[in-house]
Amino acid sequence: IRDAVPVTDAAPVTDAVPAGIAAAVEIRGVTKSFGANRVLDGVDLTVCPGHVTVVIGPSGAGKSTLLRTINHLEKPDAGYVRVNGELIGVRQQKDHFRELPERAILAQRAEIGFVFQSFNLFPHLTALENVAAAPAATGRASKSEARERAAELLTLVGLADKLDAYPGRLSGGQQQRVAIARAMALRPGLILFDEPTSALDPELVGEVLAVMKDLAGTGTTLIVVTHEIGFAREAADTVVFMDAGRIVEQGPPRRVLDHPEHPRTREFLSKVL
Ligand code: ADP
Ligand code: MG
Repeated sequence: IRDAVPVTDAAPVTDAVPAGIAAAVEIRGVTKSFGANRVLDGVDLTVCPGHVTVVIGPSGAGKSTLLRTINHLEKPDAGYVRVNGELIGVRQQKDHFRELPERAILAQRAEIGFVFQSFNLFPHLTALENVAAAPAATGRASKSEARERAAELLTLVGLADKLDAYPGRLSGGQQQRVAIARAMALRPGLILFDEPTSALDPELVGEVLAVMKDLAGTGTTLIVVTHEIGFAREAADTVVFMDAGRIVEQGPPRRVLDHPEHPRTREFLSKVL
């Protein structure tokens, strides 16, 4: 089925990074299989620092696996990922897999925030404690500094009155906003979002997207997997359409969303728009 989809060999890299600046994320030739299932099939992507990249595509396209590869949660079989110029993982030749030491992986992961569809908050910690936990545990901040910053971040996402609430007492939209504040707590240069609004009741989607829009353009690089085409249109610098493990098409939202070149992109958009 994959081969029935005509894909140009090299999708144009539109998010060109100015000379002398490291790309926030540079993905080259990344391939990943689970058994016989090739989930990523030669992915190339360059993300400019401070830009917002929205990844769209059908279920099973490999979007989550791509995010997990950027965050070291999956190892590419071939190709490499660099975050801020630092190598995430590389297999240069068949038997020469250069892996980073675990310590380096953990240090890099601390520079990357991750927001999941299912919030993944600690249920036994308050909103404030959820946000303060990592900075305090990693020694990045004293306990009181971590709590102070957590209160600031929760205020930023509109939850100043919920600092002491436990996740079970918060709506899905509020929980996801806590999760975004938590992802920001270590001041990461890069935040990955994997369908952050897919588990929410429709009336709660807007409040989470509003927080993400505020975050866009503040200097943090965002990569967002979402089906919210309106968000892509308003907030994205680059929209990437993935299908069957490949980037089929990428470019500015107006081009990819309003004038898609590839039939597969048109077909997908006609279903979600
Ligand atoms: P998407 O996020 O675009 O829906 P995924 O990256 O989650 O796609 O999954 C792509 C394919 O990889 C799917 O067929 C999925 O079943 C498979 N897959 C993902 N993770 C694993 C895993 N850990 N083990 C086996 N198969 C997996
Ligand atoms: Mg997914």
